[in-house]
Amino acid sequence: MRKKVTVVGGGNVGASCALNIAFKELADVVLVDVVPDVPVGKGLDMLETGPIEGYDVSSDVVVITAGLARKPGMSRDDLLLANFDVIKAVTEQAAKYSPNAILVLVTNPLDAMCWTAYQVSKFPKQRVIGMAGVLDTARFRTFIAAELQVSVENVTAVVLGGHGDTMVPVVRLSNVSGIPLTELMDKPTIDRLVDRTRTGGAEIVKYLKSGSAYYAPAAAAVEMVESILKDKKKVLPCAVLLEGEYGINGLFVGVPVKLGSQGIEKIYEIHLNDEEKQMLSKSAAAVQELIDVIKPKMG
Ligand code: NAD
Repeated sequence: MRKKVTVVGGGNVGASCALNIAFKELADVVLVDVVPDVPVGKGLDMLETGPIEGYDVSSDVVVITAGLARKPGMSRDDLLLANFDVIKAVTEQAAKYSPNAILVLVTNPLDAMCWTAYQVSKFPKQRVIGMAGVLDTARFRTFIAAELQVSVENVTAVVLGGHGDTMVPVVRLSNVSGIPLTELMDKPTIDRLVDRTRTGGAEIVKYLKSGSAYYAPAAAAVEMVESILKDKKKVLPCAVLLEGEYGINGLFVGVPVKLGSQGIEKIYEIHLNDEEKQMLSKSAAAVQELIDVIKPKMG
């Protein structure tokens, strides 16, 4: 049977996701938005460029990109209250019409929105997954490849933690064709690239002024969708509910997982040194602060 993906939010990220899915012929795509005509126009535009169709009620995967994006000077956390209401409403509908779907969250602040969707949908944790790490590692890989003038395909990078300024690029585990990064660059260069990765989203917001990045975010979400639909079992960094792993309990935080047709099929708990552990727990504390704000609103 043909697979179906619903993309909620037909803005920059959502429309780019839908287009990528259509180009890759992964599934039929339905694009949903609160603005009545925009998804129809965009969907028609895509239909005229590639093969998309699909009218079934229930979806295999629902990608949620609905909500506000940041503007210059804003942090992702500034979107918390506005996007909480959007994600609550969208998740209620998604869970009602697609009770067996896997939810892939994109809306920011990502880790808090995953928590919201998890609470509202009451889906098992394997089926609520946040996109952030694939994008953050892609950014880190891009900067490493550019610095060394090597193919980005040879660069492996590991980024853990929440999708914010406290994210944790793990330099020790990042390498170029197996050669540790620390043997290829001096510390000030590595620190500069780590910092650029942490602020990679803001760098793009500064240029776009009226919105935030969407080509790479959409490609990242679609890599996750593809691994799920094709049961590829890719090991990717995703935001998932941790229940004791890495000493974190009850929070969505980015860690390496195996993604397949069941959603999260395994969480990899890698050994971290003391400095990395400290950075990860700082990042988790930043996520916890947001949850403390929205928890009372959950009702
Ligand atoms: P956008 O403003 O271009 O699009 C958002 C769309 O959501 C709009 O079309 C809006 O009408 C729609 N929308 C709002 N409320 C809705 C609802 N209740 N139901 C359906 N649709 C609704 O923004 P964008 O650039 O596409 O970004 C979308 C979100 O993704 C933002 O929160 C942004 O911060 C986030 N984002 C996350 C990452 C990540 O790494 N996780 C990367 C990029 C963007």
